[in-house]
Amino acid sequence: MSKSASDWVREEIRALSAYHVAPAAGLVKLDAMENPYRLPPPVAERLGRRLAEVAINRYPDPGAPGLKSAIREAMSIPDGLPLVLGNGSDEILQMVAVALARPGATMLALEPSFVMYRMSAIAAGMRYVGVPLAADFSPDLGATLDAIAKARPALTWIAYPNNPTGNLFPREAILAILEAAPGLVVIDEAYHPFAGGASFLPEVGRHPNLVIMRTVSKLGLAGLRLGLAVGPADWMAEFEKVRLPYNVNVLTAAAAELVLREPGLLEDQARAIVRDRGLLEAGLDALAGVERFPSAANFVLVRVADAPRAFEGLKSRGILVKNLHGSHPLLANCLRLTVGTPDENSMLLSALAGTIG
Ligand code: PMP
Repeated sequence: MSKSASDWVREEIRALSAYHVAPAAGLVKLDAMENPYRLPPPVAERLGRRLAEVAINRYPDPGAPGLKSAIREAMSIPDGLPLVLGNGSDEILQMVAVALARPGATMLALEPSFVMYRMSAIAAGMRYVGVPLAADFSPDLGATLDAIAKARPALTWIAYPNNPTGNLFPREAILAILEAAPGLVVIDEAYHPFAGGASFLPEVGRHPNLVIMRTVSKLGLAGLRLGLAVGPADWMAEFEKVRLPYNVNVLTAAAAELVLREPGLLEDQARAIVRDRGLLEAGLDALAGVERFPSAANFVLVRVADAPRAFEGLKSRGILVKNLHGSHPLLANCLRLTVGTPDENSMLLSALAGTIG
């Protein structure tokens, strides 16, 4: 054996590709479901002053009481339900997988969905089973229940709304999966701010195996890296043990607390995004050659005749979207368009018309 990585790193890790972030310099960035709005200048100034006071010579308080109470208030999370914080909800995926990665344990997810589910399973050493959605991107409940019976997953991920398809799965299908799953089910509500209030948060505590995950990223704080899990105390206590002690840094904690406590700010931005999603959808529906799928998120999935060509055409017109062609058979010729500002959405519509017309 040599001393090179290829002799020592696990085969399944060597077979992975690192999460791809497309270079976006100089482009209108509509590829990553970011909120397009900056903080209003008075809030940004207050934030600057607040951050200047933070003791960056000290480790963070891992209990993060101020931040947790701001999160509870902003997200209507009852006091009785424990929270675990992550450096983005990406880190929560990792914590949950690490905690459940008993030898031979399986993670199950519906596909296509968020690619980090599979990546986190493999990184933690879990087996991974992906169950294809139906052609309309709803769960194939029969196939899912069969896969659960066969694989006996320790962990099942459901994105609600789903990424990259944008839809909300039927509630009854999710409840049936929750009943049938022998292990933990995490419902990932990253896109909750745009879903008209749809949530399984009220179900937490009614099912011994249900955890909800949320993030502040899509709300407008993607750069801070802050996500959270809410669920029964026994699960949360175990996840706390695999959480790195200082995973949420002092600047993130202070900034998120300040912005989350700003009355109505992020909610108003989310409301504007939902309104603009409607306008974008109407514009897409008016374009010949675009099939548009329903969205309860801050992005819209479309199918065109030739997605790789449309992607390049948009890029050459200065707009970056996500090309999903080739990532899953159900996503053939699909593009995922993040809702931007009204101006960005108009640019996107005319660029798309110019590209596919
Ligand atoms: N869940 C879903 C469904 C996502 O789409 C994303 C980001 N694209 C995440 C979780 C991760 O978000 P973050 O790490 O920024 O909290």
